Amino acid sequence: MSKDEKSIGKTLEEKLLSKRKSGLLKLSDEEIAEADAFCEGYMRFLDDSKTEREAVTSAIALAEANGFMPFDPKANYSAGDKIYYSNRGKSVIFCVIGTQPLENGTRVLAAHIDSPRLDLKQHPLYESSDLALLKTHYYGGIRKYQWVTIPLALHGVICKSDGTTVTVNIGEDDNDPVFVITDLLPHLAQEQSKRSLGEGIKGEELNVVIGSRPFKDDEVSEKVKLNIMRILNEKYGVVEEDFLSAELEMVPAFKARNVGLDCGLIGAYGQDDRVCAYPALEAILDCDNPEYTAIAVLTDKEEIGSTGNTGLRAAYLKNFISMLADMADVPDYTVITNSKCLSADVTAGFDPTFPEVADQRNFSCCNQGVAMCKYTGSRGKSGCNDANAEFVGYVRNVFDSNGVIWQTGELGRVDLGGGGTVACYIAELGMDVVDIGVPVLCMHAPYELTAKLDVYMAYKGFSAFIK
Ligand code: MN
Ligand code: MN
Repeated sequence: MSKDEKSIGKTLEEKLLSKRKSGLLKLSDEEIAEADAFCEGYMRFLDDSKTEREAVTSAIALAEANGFMPFDPKANYSAGDKIYYSNRGKSVIFCVIGTQPLENGTRVLAAHIDSPRLDLKQHPLYESSDLALLKTHYYGGIRKYQWVTIPLALHGVICKSDGTTVTVNIGEDDNDPVFVITDLLPHLAQEQSKRSLGEGIKGEELNVVIGSRPFKDDEVSEKVKLNIMRILNEKYGVVEEDFLSAELEMVPAFKARNVGLDCGLIGAYGQDDRVCAYPALEAILDCDNPEYTAIAVLTDKEEIGSTGNTGLRAAYLKNFISMLADMADVPDYTVITNSKCLSADVTAGFDPTFPEVADQRNFSCCNQGVAMCKYTGSRGKSGCNDANAEFVGYVRNVFDSNGVIWQTGELGRVDLGGGGTVACYIAELGMDVVDIGVPVLCMHAPYELTAKLDVYMAYKGFSAFIK
């Protein structure tokens, strides 16, 4: 056998066996530069969009700059028209009308724009030992010990008794103060250190320091608290009772940054699931004259079970499609049944420090492309979508024929834990749906990591699916 000839076994191996390989080795330097450039926009979006409300505002601004108009239920739309529908400013649908009749179905991208965080309680503000503090109730699955002794920013809205609403954002500007949850010093933590990691910091210990200077008046009992209310009143015109009708959220005050000397990773808060929401948004903004009507829905409340009227268990996506169906004079169930959806949500990336939680053959890795999770769930796939093989095959073909680097993903070893996405609620409508998303390291932590190549491949995959 000459040097250039392959052995029969080697030839068979190449033909029959699949191989894992870093996605970066499959890409040209130009394509890697494209991925890096795409992620610059993504990182700006992250810094501007730390809550679902802010993400809706940022997304609509980008969409309007790209020719999208507010949805008008009385209008008549034709192929190529670009519209958006905001659901209470907390979730949003973008749509580009396709050339195919609507009854042939739509192509849907569904990502969520809420992230784990600390919500203020309705009576949050109190004074204790000359400090003013805020009580919080965490939102979504957090590891509580990760949220102490880091800079936090306050975001949200306060609806005042006069019916007006003020928007709050403190801690993002370099000149702003930040807020902090304290922890014990190691010198005095002997008892606390005996707690389990999950109990290391308890829910009622997530109290945020918001002030320390008193309002100088001997007649007043809670001087530090009063001084904080005075500052808030000057800034926003609010009184303490206005906390009752507010949505105020403590989020990490970190900015999105390059991680690693080679700048291949992104470190930022809230990448679950804005790392899929932004590529889905960009995919639909770039979508001109699609064959099938293309829809990107950026939804709220996924982290607490897709509940509430802005989560995907609510009817707003179905209602939107029904309104389009009414305009086209076709039954909505025909449109929905013929529709296909990518549930765009993150999956866990393989972490070499904790290999024991993963089945390495089925886990997704950073820089190996966007990940397809046929199923999620826990304890025997319970509660998950488990996409049918035919639809997985369809998406696989779309990706392979459009140069999308992708891999499969599974959220951890069997029976170790698990999780869910919006896929099961899309499936309930009667659409084909599978989970596609970016692998994340330290998911749900105040600072999550993703690989730029994977973010870009999510965009390429979503674009190919809706074009
Ligand atoms: Mn998610
Ligand atoms: Mn999540």
